[in-house]
Amino acid sequence: MTYLTVPIASENLDQAGRQIKAALAAGAEMLELRTDYLENLNIDLVRNLIANIRTTAGRPLPLIVTCRDQRQGGVRPYPQHLRIDVLAAASKAGAEFIDVEFENFLRMENQEKIRVALSQSTKGRLILSAHNFSTKFESMKRIYRSILTLYPVAIPKLVYTANHINDCFEAFDLLYQTGGERIVFCMGEAGLISRILAKKLGSFLTFASVNEQNATAPGQLTIEQLQKLYRYDDIRPNTELFGVIADPVGHSLSPAIHNACFAEKGMNKLYLPLLVQGGQYKFDEFLNNIFYRRWLNFKGFSVTIPHKQNALNYVRARHGFIEPLAGKIGAVNTLIVGVEGKLAAYNTDYAAALDAITSMLKIGRSDLKDMSVAVIGAGGVARAIVAGLSDAGTKVKIYNRTVERAEKLAAEFGCEFAGLDDLQNLDAKLLINCTSIGMHPDVNATPVPQECLTKGIAVFDTVYNPAQTLLLKQAKRKKLKTIDGLSMFINQAAAQFKLFTGQDANAKFMRKTISDYLDRK
Ligand code: NAP
Repeated sequence: MTYLTVPIASENLDQAGRQIKAALAAGAEMLELRTDYLENLNIDLVRNLIANIRTTAGRPLPLIVTCRDQRQGGVRPYPQHLRIDVLAAASKAGAEFIDVEFENFLRMENQEKIRVALSQSTKGRLILSAHNFSTKFESMKRIYRSILTLYPVAIPKLVYTANHINDCFEAFDLLYQTGGERIVFCMGEAGLISRILAKKLGSFLTFASVNEQNATAPGQLTIEQLQKLYRYDDIRPNTELFGVIADPVGHSLSPAIHNACFAEKGMNKLYLPLLVQGGQYKFDEFLNNIFYRRWLNFKGFSVTIPHKQNALNYVRARHGFIEPLAGKIGAVNTLIVGVEGKLAAYNTDYAAALDAITSMLKIGRSDLKDMSVAVIGAGGVARAIVAGLSDAGTKVKIYNRTVERAEKLAAEFGCEFAGLDDLQNLDAKLLINCTSIGMHPDVNATPVPQECLTKGIAVFDTVYNPAQTLLLKQAKRKKLKTIDGLSMFINQAAAQFKLFTGQDANAKFMRKTISDYLDRK
């Protein structure tokens, strides 16, 4: 069992009571009383708080009492003797667990007090912890072994800051290579996945906060995020893993959409946000780390900015399968891990865009032949769409702020090009915005002057947040046919879902999930 543990850090009994109730209602399985947060720390106060937790919980609930040393992340500079006395008293008062820094436990006077207190408690257990707030431990395994050599029934707790997602793998290795009760995870944004995978890899607990304001460590998720977004209750040792590789990744809708779809179909699969900072080298290192550890059971990835090209290069270098048009586009957004780690790379963006166009215009792909299309933008999305449209035989003209970029893309796919000023002379059946103009928060911007939206032109905006951009609103006012970015986003996510699972996605459910998610934000 991996206890979902919520820290409580208030000496105000009412406030603590509210936090406890909220934690229990959200599904907390264990509480941690962080006494180093208390303003007026003393033994009686801690005893009262423990009694209050018992009464408020109204049912047996394991409790950890911690009084963290400031050198290891504690909040207030309480002297060591007071901290140790508080923990000893907490154990005698019935706390199931007390957490003592291993470094401090090595001091004989501390060790004696703690050993005596534990011997007087019927059920009290000891967590011996080590924290590194700046980086990885020099030798985590050595600390782990030293803890168990000194106190074999202790629960070792080893927590460090991951400065890059690649730093998490040492934590995963320790969990994988050891058994029994141990707590191992990473702090910081780069360590976020370790707090989720703690359950898959059998850590004794993982921490989550009641809400963002009450987080007690960097990178801590809320209990709601863990449970609703990351399907905490459904994570098992054999859960298959997927994720979106990106930087930044926090804004990505993919974890919400894919996890909701996995849940809807009752699949033993979990989708993670994978923040991979850096260029090709760091990207390669990340995937190498994954493939070296098959036991993690990663089966597929979405890939987005800035790694679409890096992903293609990675698969090329390892002689994996590359969907031909993805190779021509020079970017992939989906990686599938096949039998014996064989990789396959796809680009679901261009097909998603073409399908959004054909279904809204109620035409077939072959009807795209010779259609005149204006594409605004020459970045990654424009590139995928231009490749798809050219492949379908349309006549594309690319308009871009940086004209040289438009010229380069046009040359590759045999299109025309122009600067944005030339939109005044627009003459096309379909206009596609592939720039970020109009995207949240700049929702009052549009890439196209209203007067250019003339009769008979259909308008497709790839921006999906908001789904109804100013460009689309203006087009609708002129009674033009419109296609929103959400349709393309859903199509590419549905195509990824099919590649990930072999099953068709429920597109209606996907659209509702995303719309609800965007409305909540
Ligand atoms: P990108 O590679 O960074 O390209 C951005 C493009 O927008 C470039 O052509 C850039 O012109 C242009 N641009 C940006 N700001 C501009 C401004 N203020 N004025 C004029 N042009 C500007 O980005 P991308 O990956 O192609 O993504 C573009 C947009 O597509 C995203 O913002 C997103 O809304 C949308 N998107 C939609 C989906 C979907 O599934 N619906 C998926 C991914 C992305 P320069 O070349 O002059 O810099």
